[in-house]
Amino acid sequence: MATFLSYVIELENSVIYESLFEHTLDASYLIDLEGRFTTVNPATIALTGYEERELLNMSFAPIIAPEDVERVINIFDKVKQGESHKFEARIEKKDGELLDLNLSAVPAVIGNQIKGVIGIAKDITERKRAERELIQSREEAIKANQAKSEFLARMSHELRTPMNAILGFAQLLEMGNLTSSQREDVLEIRKAGHHLLNLMNEVLDLARIESGKISLSLEPVELAPLVEDCLALLQPLAEERNIRLSFHAEKHPQKFVQADRTRLKQVILNLISNAIRYNVVNGIVELSYQLNGIDQIRFNVMDKGVGIPDSELDSIFEPFYRIQPSISIEGTGVGLTITKQLVQLMGGKIGVRSKVGEGSLFWIELKKAESPFQTSREALHESIVQPEVEGFFTILYIEDNVANVTLVKRILADYSHFSLVSAQEAVTGINMAVENPPDLILLDLHLPGMDGFEALQRLRTVPSTREIPIVAVSANAMPKDIQDALNRGFEHYITKPLDVPAFIKTITHLLKSKSNTGRVHQWMN
Ligand code: ADP
Repeated sequence: MATFLSYVIELENSVIYESLFEHTLDASYLIDLEGRFTTVNPATIALTGYEERELLNMSFAPIIAPEDVERVINIFDKVKQGESHKFEARIEKKDGELLDLNLSAVPAVIGNQIKGVIGIAKDITERKRAERELIQSREEAIKANQAKSEFLARMSHELRTPMNAILGFAQLLEMGNLTSSQREDVLEIRKAGHHLLNLMNEVLDLARIESGKISLSLEPVELAPLVEDCLALLQPLAEERNIRLSFHAEKHPQKFVQADRTRLKQVILNLISNAIRYNVVNGIVELSYQLNGIDQIRFNVMDKGVGIPDSELDSIFEPFYRIQPSISIEGTGVGLTITKQLVQLMGGKIGVRSKVGEGSLFWIELKKAESPFQTSREALHESIVQPEVEGFFTILYIEDNVANVTLVKRILADYSHFSLVSAQEAVTGINMAVENPPDLILLDLHLPGMDGFEALQRLRTVPSTREIPIVAVSANAMPKDIQDALNRGFEHYITKPLDVPAFIKTITHLLKSKSNTGRVHQWMN
């Protein structure tokens, strides 16, 4: 130890350093310019397991774990040039145990000359082990979550296919001549089917939210029926507290907003349920909406409840934030956080005005959308009996699910303009199209053997089928996948379960463009 202490004493002329060096719990040592230990303190001996006589004149490199040697030698070279470094590295003790160390290395300058490297090492093995375990369990959790999301996505896809038959045939039945009680029964099937579809979407989205991914499917959504659905669901809650819910849909002209139907419903349900829960007994909740500017629709939820202090208007959108007096009412404080995120994901805004003791007004603003189709039953019939297309067209449907083919056959049977031919495999369908080119091809994306994308490529390379409009039909309703299919050359994308009027409208438009111009234009909603 004499060498190092003599440097220190020479430099500082103080015995304090000697004592510090001897008693510090961190390993401290001096290494000469050749990399050999020349001075070590007792903590270094305890840390490495080597005796002092073994360490002195021993090079530091063999102690460093092989994977770190090169990096540590590089640092050593830089310190010899006058740099100071703090770094982490692993060493191997005399008994073979590996230790993680936090190291400091500074040049030992004596009389303006660098004579060696002063080092201090701290044992951080426990901390590193905990970190590694944390990273490992995090990776395992991410993998498990991914597996869960994939399973749920598959499940949802598998469930959507039979739902296509249930909802499609229910819609067809509804259009037929039914007694009023039969019509009510079919309506129940359709409502339950839609509920199930929503549930499947919810489960799928839950998995996505948990894994940080959430995908919305934006479409024109009619506000009034959606609000009425929410009111029906919340009526029992309102009755419990004798709260009057006021909304007169018939006063409002039909208005559509661009939104994800399920998520918008979740947003509106949350705002109305808050307005009921934070209301006074015998209170009132008023719902309204109006056009704001040229293309925004503002939906308002006004209550005459307890109100919110100005100072807390921003905080209530923070996760788990609840205003003190409302703690007695059951709640989690995350509803508004999710609501705000969802509204923003749909491209909208949310806001609130409030006065303590008088009540609050929560509003959301979303982009206005055009009505995608006429919704009344009469209009539905009209579009089916009098399609806006002249001529006679052959449609080829390549689909392995027999129920789906039967459904489309039944839908088109009401038209004298169309004849449907079908194939259950891509190869058979392609051969049929080449031999007798149809006017339009409906192509299921998930076919056994060759899938819809490959079939599309083949059809586009054959001169006789190159110009035929090809419509993708799939249970996959993810906007990203729809866009991908359109980018890859599909004329249009139809999701299962089929929306019968939208389906008719799509093929009518595609065929109309074809009969007008001789070639088909891409037609979007
Ligand atoms: P939760 O209702 O589950 O607590 P939210 O995120 O929906 O969660 O609301 C956060 C807080 O904002 C509520 O705890 C309540 O204090 C306050 N709040 C929300 N809506 C209203 C309202 N209409 N009137 C008064 N306070 C409200």
